[in-house]
Amino acid sequence: MPSQTPVSPPRRNASAFKQLGPILRMAASYKGRWIAAFAFLLLSAAATLSVPLVFRQLIDQSLLSGHDLGQVFGLLLGVSVVLATATALRFYFMSWLGERVVADLRSEVYQHVLKRPPQYFETLQTGEVLSRLTADTTLVQTLVGTSISLSLRSLVLFVGGMIMMLLTSAWLAGLMLGLLIMVIFPILALGRTVRKASKDSQDKVADTSALAGEVLNAMTTVQALGREDYESGRYTNTVEQAFAVARRRNQMRSWLTAVAIVLAFAVIVFVLWLGAGQVVAGSMSAGQLAQFVLYAVLTAGAIAALAEVFGDLQRAAGATERLLDLMQDEDAHGEPNPSPAKTTVLAAIEAPVTIEFDDVWFAYPSRPDHWAVKGVSFQLRSGQTLALVGPSGAGKSTLLALMLGFYNPQRGTIRINGRPLSYWGLPAVRASMGLVAQDPVVFSANARENIRYGLLEASDTQVEEAARAAHAHDFILALPQGYESFLGERGVRLSGGQRQRIAIARAILRNPPILLLDEATSALDSLSERAVQAALAQWLPSRAGLVVAHRLATVRRATQIAVLDKGECLAIDSHERLLQTSPLYQELSAHQFLETAG
Ligand code: ATP
Repeated sequence: MPSQTPVSPPRRNASAFKQLGPILRMAASYKGRWIAAFAFLLLSAAATLSVPLVFRQLIDQSLLSGHDLGQVFGLLLGVSVVLATATALRFYFMSWLGERVVADLRSEVYQHVLKRPPQYFETLQTGEVLSRLTADTTLVQTLVGTSISLSLRSLVLFVGGMIMMLLTSAWLAGLMLGLLIMVIFPILALGRTVRKASKDSQDKVADTSALAGEVLNAMTTVQALGREDYESGRYTNTVEQAFAVARRRNQMRSWLTAVAIVLAFAVIVFVLWLGAGQVVAGSMSAGQLAQFVLYAVLTAGAIAALAEVFGDLQRAAGATERLLDLMQDEDAHGEPNPSPAKTTVLAAIEAPVTIEFDDVWFAYPSRPDHWAVKGVSFQLRSGQTLALVGPSGAGKSTLLALMLGFYNPQRGTIRINGRPLSYWGLPAVRASMGLVAQDPVVFSANARENIRYGLLEASDTQVEEAARAAHAHDFILALPQGYESFLGERGVRLSGGQRQRIAIARAILRNPPILLLDEATSALDSLSERAVQAALAQWLPSRAGLVVAHRLATVRRATQIAVLDKGECLAIDSHERLLQTSPLYQELSAHQFLETAG
């Protein structure tokens, strides 16, 4: 069963706020909106804090004397209008910031993921990345859009409420502050546990997505083997685990909220009890006590809100940590990009080219003690085609991957025009190559867009010319909507040969000096096969071609043939000479080459 490999070790010991740093930096680029949000936040807090003052006036003066009643209630109504307007605007600006930061974050994370080297994707499950891009970024949205706003508001109310209480009765307020500080510590300790539980919970949700993603991509295998019930059981199992972890987190959060509220109210009730004694003794007016009570309620409400938001902050910090994992672990995965100093050469690699493998040794990072390529050397020029032949696992596809710069050889050098790949830099190296993979990918787009993927700025005419050269034009025109026919998911099903020709057209459109071709191992229908061969016959001779060959027609057309076995290059020669000198080649040509009609 596939293992659920974490993307990188989590950095649990960093503080919550450190985790949130990059998000806050991202958010900070929208200064105008922040200023507006803060201004309305302060205004709404001021309006809230003025309410107890109005009440004191009502109790101590207007209710006793009967004067200015209308004026006082008018004032209350005015305050409520200011409060409503300021709150609505604060909400609008903060939500805008939340959505904006999440949009930025999603794009940035995706951009980083797309630039990862292949070994990164060997250990990473697609569903997991998708979960991070959606679920985790949504948590961050809650953070920026709601939690920050709520915590700032609560903080302002807390500080404002405390100051006003101090002004009302310094002695009572001082006592209350002292007691509140004492109860804050248990709340913080609980908060830390919630944070850990939050990250676990999000990890479990990501596991669920990873599992579903993998199974949905392999539906034919799952159904053909009758494993629907087994897979649904496995999924339910993971979902239940996610539920159990989420329940634990919510239990902790409920405790956190309950403890915070009880402690805060206990303090307030105690202090009020003392205050009531003062009113009875005549050293405080009823209005003053009412004012103090209202400020105490506002302050306690603010503390309760802060405790709750603290839980959200912890969850968001967990989510951010997981998102940053996606953005920051370049080094851990050994990015194969050449060092920046060496990528300053911007010149494109143009024909004619020479390619040179000089004693290249390579082992995959996941199997460092197994050489997949052992001391391979060859040279290739524009106008030549080197066919790579050999039994399965000989290292043929690995040589193409090395050529594309997906991996760096541990020993030896690959050169283009006398310079190592690192001299040119990966973008230039890859721009000089057209790749036709063994099982080419067709995207969920129409035929025209699928070919244009090779060169995004190509015109419709260029696309059609490339399709003609790849012998794909006729079959595309025969599709229901011609070039507008949708090829990808739920679209037209293409045969293996047709897909290869789409890929060849894509490569031709790039007009690269180097062509890398991994021939399909299975037989294509003979019409398709003939068309593929015809396209290659027409196009290959003017390039430097590196071809993983499975067909007699291809090896015959090649300038040279390299016979590979277990990573070693046993011989490089022509078809005729190899038939005489290489026993392995004789065997391969007798049993493994697919005969083609063309
Ligand atoms: P085939 O004709 O079956 O495609 P091949 O000649 O192209 O075979 P490669 O795919 O290059 O062979 O594999 C060469 C060796 O490297 C094999 O032993 C294979 O198990 C190993 N290998 C291939 N890909 C990886 C990988 N991503 N990680 C670790 N080992 C790998």
